[in-house]
Amino acid sequence: MGAHLPVAPKEMEVDRMANTHQVRNPFTGEMDYILRSAPADEVKASIARLRAGQPAWAALGVKKRIDVLKLWASALKDRESEIIAALSADTGRRAIAKSEVDGVIASIDRWATVAEAVLKPASKPASAFPDVEIITDGDPFPVVGAISPWNFPILLSFVDSTPALLAGSAVYIKPSEVTPRFAKPVAEAIEATPHLRDILHIEPGDGATGAALVENVDVVAFTGSVATGRKVAAAAAKAFIPAFLELGGKDPSIVLAGADIDRATTAILRASVVATGQACQSLERLYVSEEIFDDFVEALVAKARATTLTIDDPDSGIIGPLIFEKQAEIIAEHIADARSKGANILSGGEIRRDGGVWIAPTIVTNVNHTMRLLSEETFGPVMPVMPFKTIDEAVALANDTRYGLSASVFAASVEEALAVGRRIDAGGVSINDAGLTSFIFDGEKSAYKQSGMGPSRMGPSGVTRFLRRKSYYINRGDVMPIHIFGERP
Ligand code: NAD
Repeated sequence: MGAHLPVAPKEMEVDRMANTHQVRNPFTGEMDYILRSAPADEVKASIARLRAGQPAWAALGVKKRIDVLKLWASALKDRESEIIAALSADTGRRAIAKSEVDGVIASIDRWATVAEAVLKPASKPASAFPDVEIITDGDPFPVVGAISPWNFPILLSFVDSTPALLAGSAVYIKPSEVTPRFAKPVAEAIEATPHLRDILHIEPGDGATGAALVENVDVVAFTGSVATGRKVAAAAAKAFIPAFLELGGKDPSIVLAGADIDRATTAILRASVVATGQACQSLERLYVSEEIFDDFVEALVAKARATTLTIDDPDSGIIGPLIFEKQAEIIAEHIADARSKGANILSGGEIRRDGGVWIAPTIVTNVNHTMRLLSEETFGPVMPVMPFKTIDEAVALANDTRYGLSASVFAASVEEALAVGRRIDAGGVSINDAGLTSFIFDGEKSAYKQSGMGPSRMGPSGVTRFLRRKSYYINRGDVMPIHIFGERP
């Protein structure tokens, strides 16, 4: 790769002409790394190399591709401690860094099982012509561009790449410029895996590198914000390639009067503060029946106050630092806006700076939808809670958003919760739990509204979306006469 320079002294100047910029360490707040973003001509050359290697990869067949990816899993395992160390420097967190790497390794087996099942050619007789057999197969898109965000750097680099590789595509991964360090040991693992180096390339870079990628690949799988997703969709339209977009969210939870408050508050707090709320599917709006509102808020606040920050020791505590410093400003602005409009902050609420930037779980009441806290993605551990009188009102509030990623519902019975879940405009709804889509990957789900576009990245379509469908029509009978429509000259 040659794009990663070692740790830079803090005062080192960045050479803009050389396309480099300093990268901040979220735990220490220090600028301790320099990233050189690949310029457009290098991106183009790397993609040409992948394109040359891809036909042999596709010709291997799925079983042999799985064998290669199993070697790849071992190569990742061999470098696990190095990758975790780099990811920790990228994100300021250790336990999640390990679980990300373990998650990528585990996903290889999971996707292999799906790929073997869905990549088998299907055969059937044509309904109107029984002598004609239709064999339906798929041709992989030659080169997939995967563009990922900073919140789960390695997991989201491979969530689309692993199924694309299994489908037979070559992949260029462009991780975020905010969290680039992990890419170097991952690139070394790619180099160490026979065959993989010809068809998989990882190189972090800035938006310009991402834009160059979109211009040169055959399909783009993008994870990031709605604002950048729009740009990627427009560029993909110009390049006339499909864009699979997985974007932001503002997930609601609805808690009905009969719900188990202890269960609901534990699950909701977990799903709101996991990864310090820096997750697309973290809960950011809570609607609670007025009948149980006070008890619910009291229990939630007690549990929130008991959670600890990793500020003194990265190995203990639940809430790590915010990865992207600018996000702290957005969170602070949302809280200030809510406060100025009459909201009450019952826990947390203050940004703490100690090298890195932290915020404790923040519970806010007396809120409404005129506040940015209820309408824009906050991407922090902040939980505005609103009471509702009727289920219709709760559903209307949950759907009053431009997002539609996921949601959760708590009720006395599964049936009651499901009836409400069916009315929510979102692709993944946890029933009597929250945030299950961050642990369970088998269910197909679409991103509704501005949360995304394209086929489900989970379940069988996670693999099949990287194929162009191709059918062979084999006629074992007579050919049809020339005058098929019965007209005579
Ligand atoms: P972002 O949109 O700022 O950046 C995402 C990626 O796009 C980065 O790699 C960036 O370099 C690249 N990029 C920037 N400009 C580009 C351009 N013009 N062309 C191509 N690529 C370009 O997002 P972020 O701040 O890194 O991530 C946070 C966002 O990601 C949040 O909105 C979050 O909800 C979303 N997200 C969504 C999911 C999901 O599965 N739906 C998962 C995680 C994060």
